[in-house]
Amino acid sequence: QETARRRDTYYAASQKKFVPFAKPMVFKKGSMQYLWDEAGNRYTDLLGMNVCISVGHAHPKVVGAAMAQAQDLTHCTTMFYHPVPAHFAEELAAVMPNPKGDIEWVVHFTNSGAEAVDLALTMARDYTGNADILALRTAYHGPTAAAQSVTGIAGWRHAGMPGNVAFVAEPNQYRGIFGENAGAAPYLDEIGRTIATATTGRIAGMIVESVQGYGGIIEMPKGYLTGAAERTRAAGGLFIVDEVQAGFGRTGDHMWGFEADGVIPDIVVMAKGIGNGFPLGAVVAQKHVAAPMAEKFMFHTYGANPTSCAAGRAVLQVLREDRVQDNARTVGAALLARLQDLKQRHPKIGDVRGRGLMLAFEMVKDRKTKEPDPETTAKVFEACRESRLILSKSGPYQSCLRMVPPMCLTMEDVETVAEGLDRAFTLAARG
Ligand code: PMP
Repeated sequence: QETARRRDTYYAASQKKFVPFAKPMVFKKGSMQYLWDEAGNRYTDLLGMNVCISVGHAHPKVVGAAMAQAQDLTHCTTMFYHPVPAHFAEELAAVMPNPKGDIEWVVHFTNSGAEAVDLALTMARDYTGNADILALRTAYHGPTAAAQSVTGIAGWRHAGMPGNVAFVAEPNQYRGIFGENAGAAPYLDEIGRTIATATTGRIAGMIVESVQGYGGIIEMPKGYLTGAAERTRAAGGLFIVDEVQAGFGRTGDHMWGFEADGVIPDIVVMAKGIGNGFPLGAVVAQKHVAAPMAEKFMFHTYGANPTSCAAGRAVLQVLREDRVQDNARTVGAALLARLQDLKQRHPKIGDVRGRGLMLAFEMVKDRKTKEPDPETTAKVFEACRESRLILSKSGPYQSCLRMVPPMCLTMEDVETVAEGLDRAFTLAARG
C-alpha cells in the first residue's frame, strides 16, 4: 500500500493508462518463468515482464555475466573501445540470416527499442534521401516522437507527432478489411495504392513487425513480408523489420520472425529479449545502408554499455546452449492446442492465434459479428490474477489477451496455465 501511495502520488499521469489492474500488484522477486508477490504467492509470468524476459527472470548466467562486468567497469562510453560490446556485435551479426554469405551485417547499439526504431528511420532517410515512411495501422513501435509517428494504434497516438508517415491496412487474417483469411495479395495491392496516393512516390522505407505484438499478435500472412519488401524497394525505400517482440527465437521456428517468409530486410530493429531485462536495443543493418551516416554525429549515451552487452552475450549463449527456440516451438504448440480447446468451451473467444511463445486470444461479443469485447477481456484479465497468471491486454480495441512468457516455460506450466485460464474465463462469464 505504501508503494502504491508513493507511486500514485509521484508518478506522472502519463504512465497511468499502462497500469490496467483494478488493484495494484507489487512483485519483488522473480525466477525463470515465475514471479512472487509481497505475500509470497507465485504467479506464472505469461507477459515476460513485457516480452523483456526471454530466457528467464534472474537467469543465473545472465545475472552473473552482468554482475561480473558491472564490477569491472559498469559503463564505458562508445567513444572508447571495449571488448564486450565489440564481441557482442560480432555475435549478433553472426546470428543474422546470410543465405549466400555475401551480406555484411553491422550493429549500432541503443538503450531501448524506440531509440532503435528512431535510428532505423533516420538511417533509411539518410540513405535514400527520401522522407516518406510506410507503417501498418495496428503497429506499435515505441514511445519516442519518431517511433510514435509510425505507431498506428489510436490509443498510443498523441498530439503533434512528426509527419511523413503513411499508414497501410494491416494484413489481419481475422478481422482485416479484406475479410477472413484473405491472404497477402490484397494487402500488398494496398501498399502499392498507398505509395501512389499518399506519398511523393519515392519513399525512405517501410517498417513492419514480423508479428505484431501490441496489435494483438497479428501474424503476417505468407508472402506478405517478401512482397512488401519488393514494393518498398521498387519505390526507392528500405525494408525495416521491427523484431523487438518477435525476435530471439520467440516464434519457435527461427531466430527472427521475418525468416518464416524468407525475406532479408535492409534494417532489423531489436530490443527487449536481447538483454533479458537489462536495458538494451540495437539496429542491425546491412553495411552499405549504415555507411552514409558516417558523415554525421549519432551517439546514444548508454548504447553499447558493457554491463548490458555482457547480459546480451549471455542471452545469446543461453539461447544456443539451452535450445530455447526449440522449447518455444514445442511448448508454444502445446499451449496453442490448449488455447484452441478453451475456444471450444468459451463462446466469447473469437480467435486464438500466434506461433511459438507469442500467442493471443481475441475476445468478441458474438462470433458472427466479431464485435470486439474489451469488457469481457478486462474481466478475464482481472480473473487471471486469481489464477495466479500474469498476461496483458492488447490490440486496437483492448480485446486481445497476449501471452509472451519467458521461453523456459514448461509442458507442466502449460497445464497450469490452461486450467487457470479456464477458471478465469468461467469467472468472467459469470460477470
Ligand atoms: N517495437 C515494438 C514492437 C515494441 O513492442 C516496443 C515496446 N513495447 C518497442 C518497439 C519500443 O521499445 P522500448 O519500449 O524499449 O522503447
